[in-house]
Amino acid sequence: MMTYQTAALLPFTEFIDNFNHQLKSVFYERDDIKKFIRHRGFPATVLRDIMATNPFSVAIPRQFGGRGNKTKEALGIMDAASYESLPLSLMFGINIGLFLGPVNKYAKESIKPDIFRRFLKHQNMGGLMITEPGYGSDALNMQTYNEQRGSKYHIKGVKHWQGLTGMADYWLMASRKKMPDGGLSRDIDFFITDARHPEQKIEVEELYHNIGLYPIPYGRNKIDIQVPRDYKLQPYTTGLKLTMDLLHRSRFQFPGMAVGFIRRMLDDAITHTQQRFIRAKPLFALDQVKQQIARIQTAFTISSAMCSRSAEASGLEKNLDGKTVEANTMKAYVTELMQESAQTLTQLYGANGYKEECIASRGIVDSRPFMVFEGSNEMLYTQIAEVLVKQMRRLKVMNLAAYLKDYQRTLLTANHFIPLTDFNVEEKMPQRKQVLLGKILSRIVASDYVAALGHKGFRQDLVNDSMDMIKQEVSALVSSCHYSNHVVPVQDYNINSSWMDFS
Ligand SMILES: Cc1cc2nc3c(=O)[nH]c(=O)nc-3n(C[C@H](O)[C@H](O)[C@H](O)COP(=O)(O)OP(=O)(O)OC[C@H]3O[C@@H](n4cnc5c(N)ncnc54)[C@H](O)[C@@H]3O)c2cc1C
Repeated sequence: MMTYQTAALLPFTEFIDNFNHQLKSVFYERDDIKKFIRHRGFPATVLRDIMATNPFSVAIPRQFGGRGNKTKEALGIMDAASYESLPLSLMFGINIGLFLGPVNKYAKESIKPDIFRRFLKHQNMGGLMITEPGYGSDALNMQTYNEQRGSKYHIKGVKHWQGLTGMADYWLMASRKKMPDGGLSRDIDFFITDARHPEQKIEVEELYHNIGLYPIPYGRNKIDIQVPRDYKLQPYTTGLKLTMDLLHRSRFQFPGMAVGFIRRMLDDAITHTQQRFIRAKPLFALDQVKQQIARIQTAFTISSAMCSRSAEASGLEKNLDGKTVEANTMKAYVTELMQESAQTLTQLYGANGYKEECIASRGIVDSRPFMVFEGSNEMLYTQIAEVLVKQMRRLKVMNLAAYLKDYQRTLLTANHFIPLTDFNVEEKMPQRKQVLLGKILSRIVASDYVAALGHKGFRQDLVNDSMDMIKQEVSALVSSCHYSNHVVPVQDYNINSSWMDFS
């Protein structure tokens, strides 16, 4: 086992090489990932050996024995993990983005040393509890409440679908303050809970049978706990701004979990289609197959470009509460690229893609909830469109091309999308159109990240191919936007609609 002191001192390339080596060793030599991929939880020795490399040291400041909290390193460790196992990468994402980051930024100094020490020396874990059975997308109306009683807060409610349910040592617990009239405050408070203390223990009422992400337990949690005052996070202004800063930073981290996963889909697609012969020719020789793999390659380039942008723009010192467009772009677009890449590889495997242990079909199931959690993608695209229209109205520029020409996040590539974007955006539009508009902006913002990565020296052929693919996608989205319909579901559709009556 590498001590955390050693982990903290290694140059990052050595640290990540060591981590990669350990993953290969535990997944393919000492154990066989294909054997346990269908079981719930990692085998204890596998998890122990992975954690022995001290992966969480990337999210712990130097003064507490960590590597110093560099976003690039956090994204790097998620990238390396997701090449081998998306659930492992999500486990890191939860601990780093949803627990250690917020603790680092908003917890009282006095309580940090013990928490960080337990992560470094005892491989402790922490997750985030926001979602409730009645309040998921509508999380700001959560009903879990807190009441101060002397030096402690009493927190009561029900939470569900928390990653690491029953497994985490620490939780970041969201709740609303109970007001004297019995109502709940609009603002959100966060508390750190520690399962070592009996009065902070969270009862798991039910473990869910999640269809993928088997190594991560999910379930329903009954909250009835007492937490010392010092364990309340300290927002700089309001709890709502803290919440948005936290959620946006986490969305900025999604490309880290995506890029390794997509690279794996790409490598396996290339290898498989070169080795599989159909009518004496490798599958790779077919034009349609080349196009399918080129799309995965584009996904790889886009997620790489997002990582590069995230590394420079989402450090803890930055205030991300207003970064809706970028945070939502990264999360919603990259999770669609993950799902699409897994679907493509499954198709290319033919019947063997339908085996439970196939990395591609597991990838479909494991990456699917990424489009739902931390804000469903439809909701995030709607928010992007709302921000865009608000800014356009403020500047009195309703032509999209004219607006994008001067918009900070599309300066490099706005011109490439003319004449596609040469149309006026309506001030009021149905939500289905907002979602399309949100998608259009997300693709153009992503193309700017790709161009920026190209300027830094990333291979130009991959950059050019991605720009072509994104343009094609934007063209389809713009055409859908112009051809919008108003079709709504007919609720009593089953009257006069049985084909048998007409045959
Ligand atoms: C694998 C997994 C891991 C999770 N991890 C965590 C965790 O660690 N901590 C935690 O607190 N929670 C977690 N969650 C919960 C997750 O954040 C919620 O499921 C999510 O916010 C959606 O809430 P909901 O399930 O109540 O769906 P609902 O709010 O009922 O929404 C259902 C669907 O309605 C549609 N919809 C909702 N709002 C809109 C809108 N404005 N516009 C258009 N369509 C809309 C979307 O299609 C959405 O998927 C996790 C969930 C899953 C599946």
